[in-house]
Amino acid sequence: MVDCLFCRIVAGEVAATVVHDDELTLAFRDVAPKAPVHVLVIPKTHHPDVARVAVDDPDALAAVLRTAAAVAAAEGVAETGWRLVFNTGAGAGQSVFHLHGHVLGGRPFTWPPG
Ligand code: AMP
Repeated sequence: MVDCLFCRIVAGEVAATVVHDDELTLAFRDVAPKAPVHVLVIPKTHHPDVARVAVDDPDALAAVLRTAAAVAAAEGVAETGWRLVFNTGAGAGQSVFHLHGHVLGGRPFTWPPG
């Protein structure tokens, strides 16, 4: 995918603080963390959002979910609780159009989110 920031991170062209790397997924720390734990989990293949990947490559979506749970455990928030957020569409705050799940933890969260 031309000029996709997260594809460039997968390719090693843009630096990131990687916390998990496997055949299908990559997880790295968000540059502007919204919680003590804030890790982005992406599929290595390009899909614009969670709606598309669910239809086009459900195996990649399942891998993202597995990695998110593994990251939460590795970051020490599996027991205290963590949130997995997929902003979908600009109106919901999506700014990078390569599917990513935000793994958030380490502080209390309100529901519904603000
Ligand atoms: P969203 O707004 O849901 O599309 O989330 C995009 C996220 O990517 C934001 O939380 C940004 O802080 C984060 N971000 C943008 N550029 C980078 C980068 N180079 N490395 C890590 N995180 C980034």
